[in-house]
Amino acid sequence: MALRHGIDFGKAQALHQQELALFSERRPRSRQLSAAGGEHLLFGAPLHWMADWSTPFNLYVEEARGARLRDVDGHEYLDFCLGDTGAMFGHSPAPVARAIAEQATRGLTAMLPSPDAVWVAEELARRFGLSHWQFAISASDANRFALRWLRAASGRDQIVVFNGCYHGTVDDVFVDLVDGQPRRRASLLGQVHDLAAHTRVVEFNDLEALERALRDEQVACVLAEPVMTNIGMVMPEPGFWRAAQDLIRRYGSYLLLDETHTISSGPGGYGAAYGLKPDALVLGKPLGGGLPCAVYGFSAELAERAQRAKRAAAPGHSGIGTTLSGNMLASAAMRANLAEVMSDAAYQRMFALAQHLADGLLDWIERWRLPWCVSRVGARCEFQFSPRPPRNGGEAGAMQDEELERIIHLYLLNRGFLITPFHNMLLLCPETEFADVDRLLAALDGFAGEVI
Ligand code: PMP
Repeated sequence: MALRHGIDFGKAQALHQQELALFSERRPRSRQLSAAGGEHLLFGAPLHWMADWSTPFNLYVEEARGARLRDVDGHEYLDFCLGDTGAMFGHSPAPVARAIAEQATRGLTAMLPSPDAVWVAEELARRFGLSHWQFAISASDANRFALRWLRAASGRDQIVVFNGCYHGTVDDVFVDLVDGQPRRRASLLGQVHDLAAHTRVVEFNDLEALERALRDEQVACVLAEPVMTNIGMVMPEPGFWRAAQDLIRRYGSYLLLDETHTISSGPGGYGAAYGLKPDALVLGKPLGGGLPCAVYGFSAELAERAQRAKRAAAPGHSGIGTTLSGNMLASAAMRANLAEVMSDAAYQRMFALAQHLADGLLDWIERWRLPWCVSRVGARCEFQFSPRPPRNGGEAGAMQDEELERIIHLYLLNRGFLITPFHNMLLLCPETEFADVDRLLAALDGFAGEVI
């Protein structure tokens, strides 16, 4: 019997063959749409990542509401993926749906600001403690634009990121540590520039490496998630952020915090919950309740330097921004979401659910003696294939097992549970029920019974 991560892998692979057949049999309409989509959509999907789920063909959605989703073949799912955070507060939250419907008849975009933009910026300043804001369409764009401003404002051309990070499709940060050297990420398509020339990479939780990277005072900013969430979760060690912020300040760099996923930590993100003081912050995905929009904010000092840099530049395109950024529809959606959905009460419920799930996962892992661990960041949980949590991106990457993930995910999907592809991340929204969590745990128990 070949054990892999504590499970009988031969059994798991045989089970997977049955699950593939079961999925296909029961989803004729999705199969038909995938085939038809394949005629005119790359990989049969409007975004090629949508073809990267564990399913043998693309799963097409009919409807999604709250914590539930129904596919085109009428199967219902409890959704713990929630659009990989885009729908972190549930699908189509009522206040956002209402605001979108109202705004939709009053203009969608005009390349002029609406009053909602001012309300949103005031609220962002209150929540995140940064005085000046800009809007974008996606977190990828917001990170890309923030990096440009920070380089322009500081007059420095280098940036630092943590090994294994993901901040969206921002070319600058697709640099990995390979045998201790920065290398363009092998999976990156069609990018020909030497990205390692202006991006330094260090391991998370490694203060010495961070100091070495900052010491020559060429670094505009450190771009980081406060907890790494995209290579599996990596938690900061106690004291890491306090010391890292001191170093960043000592060498005249800025801290650009990407709270796109860690907004699961509370209404002001991880930074507000744990006392971080970033100079700049990016937030995307769930900010408009699922409508494409993102924001980035600057401290007053940084905003002043950024505005000065723009005024001093040659007239013409800054290369920052897109035509629909800050549009009226997105501003209305963000306002409704911030005012009525991303509330303290919603977070309290999500935390209680996430704690219930994390406790249940730990109990499940112990009962089946799996050499796995569980991490939780507010309303976000993850189980990882290692007895102890990873210290950095290198360790986290090494413990990933895509084949095993796909086997588990498809097993769950066939029983009505969606979890995030590419890792084992689970999100809880205010409309998730405690009984839903128990049902997911029972399904995981069923899986363990089949393969252990
Ligand atoms: N930042 C982080 C931390 C993310 O996890 C992601 C997406 N997973 C992004 C930015 C980019 O978001 P988007 O794909 O919506 O641009």
